Amino acid sequence: MTDAVTFQGVSRHFGPVKAVDAVDLSIRDGEFFAMLGPSGSGKTTCLRLIAGFEQPTAGHIAIFGERAEGVPPYLRNVNTVFQNYALFPHMNVRENVAFGLRVKGVGKAERHRAAEEALELVELGGYGHRRAGELSGGQRQRVALARALINKPRVVLLDEPLGALDLKLREQMQEELRKLQRALGLTFVFVTHDQDEALSMADRVAVFAEGKIQQIGTSEDIYRCPNTRFVADFVGSSNVLPADLAGVGRAGQWASLRPEDVVLDPAGREATVTGRFFHGRVTKLSLDLAGQSLTALIPAREDTPDVGEAARISWDPARVHLMEREA
Ligand code: ATP
Repeated sequence: MTDAVTFQGVSRHFGPVKAVDAVDLSIRDGEFFAMLGPSGSGKTTCLRLIAGFEQPTAGHIAIFGERAEGVPPYLRNVNTVFQNYALFPHMNVRENVAFGLRVKGVGKAERHRAAEEALELVELGGYGHRRAGELSGGQRQRVALARALINKPRVVLLDEPLGALDLKLREQMQEELRKLQRALGLTFVFVTHDQDEALSMADRVAVFAEGKIQQIGTSEDIYRCPNTRFVADFVGSSNVLPADLAGVGRAGQWASLRPEDVVLDPAGREATVTGRFFHGRVTKLSLDLAGQSLTALIPAREDTPDVGEAARISWDPARVHLMEREA
């Protein structure tokens, strides 16, 4: 099967700034693909390269196997949902959704029909006459999505689409976006700096830092087997210890150990509690083990020692993931 999007050695430099630097990437047809990374790591520039708003300074991009060079955005079979939604507040919802078709010269009746169909998809049927400026944040987000879906693109690019929503609505929209993507069988490329969002929604995640992809894999791969210290720190805030202290591997390796894999164990090694934070379902303990800081997440029903007290801890060596130090 032809991949939806491929990058071969793609760079986009702005003078001395290497926004995207020699990136290789294949996004499969029908995949929910997340680009995750801190601010300034090159995620948005990658999205703009796929959309055709930016041109690579080196390398090649293909969309469904066709070279994208010189193909303008509106001929790419790709549509973008922008972070700020970019709706026209004075226009009604239907006009907003149908705007792209109007620019292309599609007649009014056909525009209305297509807009209503797209609004039904995002469960806003009957909202066509409302002014965009009168909608809630969640409704605006749906309108922006309907506008991206109206001309039936095969790839939808979403740049932090849920960033403006409060936590509860955000979680609800995460589920809805995922359902819609599956139901329509489209390829979604989703940019976020929120690791929980990326891991919970995506089929595969690419972790970005400084214009380069650090790792690509399923959420599980990225979480369990980070291949660099950066990925281990950024995704799920692992403990990273010298391998000898973790009791696995060999000198010159790092051990990455998830906080939820550190357990209280009367037969374990003695650490000192330096912080204790109650989080409802779990208690987070900050620990000092032989001068090394460590975090543990302990189920709340267990008795947890207090700050200044000793805590005996252990972990299953099989849960430790090893990385080379130079990585
Ligand atoms: P954020 O999460 O903050 O949106 P990002 O990971 O999407 O960040 P980009 O917006 O792709 O990062 O930016 C990558 C780097 O390229 C940054 O250092 C940014 O300042 C720079 N950059 C992006 N666009 C331009 C431009 N048009 N001119 C100059 N530098 C740019």
